[in-house]
Order: sequence, then structure tokens, then C-alpha cells
Amino acid sequence: MEKIFVNEEQCIGCGACVAIDPEHFDFNDNGLSNVISSENLDSANLTSAIESCPTGAIKTLDKCDCCDECTGDENCTCSCEDCDCK
Ligand code: SF4
Repeated sequence: MEKIFVNEEQCIGCGACVAIDPEHFDFNDNGLSNVISSENLDSANLTSAIESCPTGAIKTLDKCDCCDECTGDENCTCSCEDCDCK
């Protein structure tokens, strides 16, 4: 299933995605964008948030692209620290 991923190394915490699409984004404890839902991926607000991100940090993918072992779901056992499945 397609999911939303935010690359935390690219996110600068500008808040554009949170302001435009609070259904899908909130801030985490580090002040960076956190994906809170992967439902309703056809939302116009989500498209707008992705287009408005100044660093291109938001993507919708079948799985995150951390490594070849990543399965992109809650059963993922890859060892990448930056894996978005965990
Ligand atoms: Fe981070 Fe992009 Fe969201 Fe700004 S719009 S908070 S840079 S993900």
C-alpha cells in the first residue's frame, strides 16, 4: 500500500505541510514533520503540501527507500536507523 514518507534529513521544520494538510502531518518532538495518517492519499491538500514543501522532503511511495531489505510495512526488519516503517 502506498504511504507518505517525510525525509527527516531534508525537512527543515518550516510547517508548510502541517498548515496546509493537518489531516496527514503534525510536528514531532524535534519540530520536524511527522506523518500521522496515510489514509485519503487522493486529497488535494496532500498534493498541495507535497508541492509546497521547499525541500522536497515529502514523498508517497510503496515503501521508504532506505535499503533493499526494507519491506515498507510494520513487519520490516531492516536495520536502517532512518527507516520510516518503524
Ligand atoms: Fe518539513 Fe517540508 Fe513539511 Fe516544511 S513542508 S515541515 S520542510 S516536510
